[in-house]
Amino acid sequence: MITMKKITFSLLLLFVCPALLAQQIHQLSDTVSLKGTFTQGALLIGQAKASDSVFLNDKPVAIADDGLFVIGFGRDAELNHQLHVKSVSGEANTFPLTLEKRKYNIQRVTGISKKITQPNPENVKRARLDAKQVRAARKLWSDDTHFNQQFIWPAKGRMSGVYGSQRFYNGKPGRPHYGLDVAAPTGTAVIAPADGVVRLFVPDMFYSGGTLIIDHGMGVSSTFLHLSAGLVKAGDVVKQGQLIAKIGSTGRSTGPHLDWRMNWLNQRVDPQLLVPARK
Ligand SMILES: [Zn+2]
Repeated sequence: MITMKKITFSLLLLFVCPALLAQQIHQLSDTVSLKGTFTQGALLIGQAKASDSVFLNDKPVAIADDGLFVIGFGRDAELNHQLHVKSVSGEANTFPLTLEKRKYNIQRVTGISKKITQPNPENVKRARLDAKQVRAARKLWSDDTHFNQQFIWPAKGRMSGVYGSQRFYNGKPGRPHYGLDVAAPTGTAVIAPADGVVRLFVPDMFYSGGTLIIDHGMGVSSTFLHLSAGLVKAGDVVKQGQLIAKIGSTGRSTGPHLDWRMNWLNQRVDPQLLVPARK
C-alpha cells in the first residue's frame, strides 16, 4: 500500500505544485540530463560533459564551460524533438524528447466585432522600430548561466494573466498573450527574478510602454512591459532580488500590471514554469 500512497502523493504534487515539477530532473544517460517540465512553453536546463557538443533538431546549442546548456520551446512548439549529444571521441547519442501538449486559456467572444481602426502610419512606424530594438537587444550574447538559478517572482500582486491565453473574436484568433501578468498599483516594485545584464530600457515603446530586458545568459532573457519607471540602464549588471523598475500602465495597457515575458532565443517560453507556485 506504500506504493499506492506514493502514487497518490505524486499525483497530488503534480496537480497543486507545478513549481516542483519545474525542478524535475530527467536523466537521459550517465552524463546527460535535462531539468524542467517536458511541455510546450518550457525552458529546459541541460547538463552534459563540458567537452560534448549538443544539437537540438540538428541545430547547435551553446554549451557552457561547466557543461550546462539550455533549450526552450514556444507556445505551439511541435511535440517531438531530438537532442543529439556528441562526445569528443565521436560517440553520438540521440535522445528523443516528447513534449506534452498544453491546453491554453481560450476565450471566444462573439457578437461583438473587435474594433478595427486604421492604424496611424506614425504609430506603425514607431512600433516597427520598437520591435527592431527589442530583437537587437535579445540578440546580444552572454555566456552567463544565471538561468540556472531558482527564479523568483518579480513583483508582489495578483496573477491577472497567464502565458498562452488567446481570444477569438467572432471566430478570428487574436494574438496570443505570452506574458505572465501581475496586477498591482503603479509604482509597485519590480525586482530581478534572477541575475543578469540589462540589455535595454526604453520608457515609452508604442505598445509595451516602459520596456526592460534582462539577459540571464545563453539566449535566456526576461522582458518587462508597461513599466512606469526603469531604475537601471543597458549594460548594468543586476542581482536577483534587486529593485529594477516600477509597475505601470504605459503603452497600450488597460490598467497597471507587470507583464513578464521570457525568451530562449526566438522561442517565447512560460515564466510561470520557472517560479514557485502562487495563487
Ligand atoms: Zn500582459
